[in-house]
Amino acid sequence: MTVSRIEHRFVDQVPEQPEPGVLYVSLAFRTAVHLCACGCEGETWLPIRPDRHHLTFDGDSITIQGSIGNWRFPCRSHYWIRQNRIVWADAPAERPPWWRRSARRAMDGALWLRRWFRDQRARATRAAIGR
Ligand SMILES: [Zn+2]
Repeated sequence: MTVSRIEHRFVDQVPEQPEPGVLYVSLAFRTAVHLCACGCEGETWLPIRPDRHHLTFDGDSITIQGSIGNWRFPCRSHYWIRQNRIVWADAPAERPPWWRRSARRAMDGALWLRRWFRDQRARATRAAIGR
């Protein structure tokens, strides 16, 4: 189902099964994660960086500067997040010109981060049950 509004949550960990319509924001890892707003459930990881996406929190809602182009997913969804609303772009997402090896490494970094979260959780669970 297409999402028209997104709810933000500041988190330390991104859940294994992110909910649709939720933008998970990790300030510590300068990353925002959400499921593609078209409803395809593709996981979108946005690095928050001076040269990439910027994130603004006005106290109530979040705006992300820089469009979100899910050109890697079959849906090729392309939209902005403005004050927690999804604003659709007219054109489908294209592979951005800056895409190159370093971007791919950043993606691998995101996958690595996810594994790290998972390991941390496993460790916390083992500690909680006393193993
Ligand atoms: Zn999609």
